[in-house]
Amino acid sequence: MAVADETRKRLWARSGNRCAVCRQELVRADLEEVPGALVGQEAHIIARSPGGPRYEPLAPKVRDGYANLILLCANDHTEVDAQPTRYTVEHLRAIKHRHEQWVAARLDGGDSVSEDGTLATLILSGDDLWPLLAGALGWQIGMPEALSDEDADLIDESMQLFTDWCDISSDVEAQGFRSVRDAKRSLTGQLNQMAAAGFVVLGGRREAALGAGVTGPVVVLEVVRPEGLEALRVSVPGGAAAPGDMR
Ligand SMILES: [Zn+2]
Repeated sequence: MAVADETRKRLWARSGNRCAVCRQELVRADLEEVPGALVGQEAHIIARSPGGPRYEPLAPKVRDGYANLILLCANDHTEVDAQPTRYTVEHLRAIKHRHEQWVAARLDGGDSVSEDGTLATLILSGDDLWPLLAGALGWQIGMPEALSDEDADLIDESMQLFTDWCDISSDVEAQGFRSVRDAKRSLTGQLNQMAAAGFVVLGGRREAALGAGVTGPVVVLEVVRPEGLEALRVSVPGGAAAPGDMR
């Protein structure tokens, strides 16, 4: 079974004719020698064939379904498939989700998504998170709607831990390398718990107004649950894979 035309149209439309990773245009008018050159590729998140990147056995309908496809430029397609441990299923779904939100926000003329790519980074470990929160003076946090009590508690607990480390970050850094390392481990442990519950954290840092004409570094975090991830998992024969199995 091939990817259905309707699925392909949806993918191109919702991607806004841009690569989900680098956001370059995928039908380019600027390549003189090839008018209207098509540089976009419909990539499978979970590979079609055994031995392919991120392969898991999937029903053909799911494998070629919308949730398992991501639109990329040729360069990023090559890179994504060459580095399946960096570009895990979760990472790619987060990139796609974020990109589609970015496209939708631009088409709506809204400014809910920062254009500077503030949130483009996937936060997987304390090594990713510490540089964002160390010395930050404010927080801007986004999270999914309609959370179960259990999930809401987990996210609250995570944000509390992150802001606690932020508050003492200058002391921790003054204490030296080992203290920073311990802090990063604590953050990694919490991020792993969130990943196990199906959450992906995207983050960034930017200068923002803090009141009274003062600006300072603000941590921007968004917790997302990539659309369709659970449905995809459930369809895998033999049960759901833990996020850790993918890395
Ligand atoms: Zn690209």
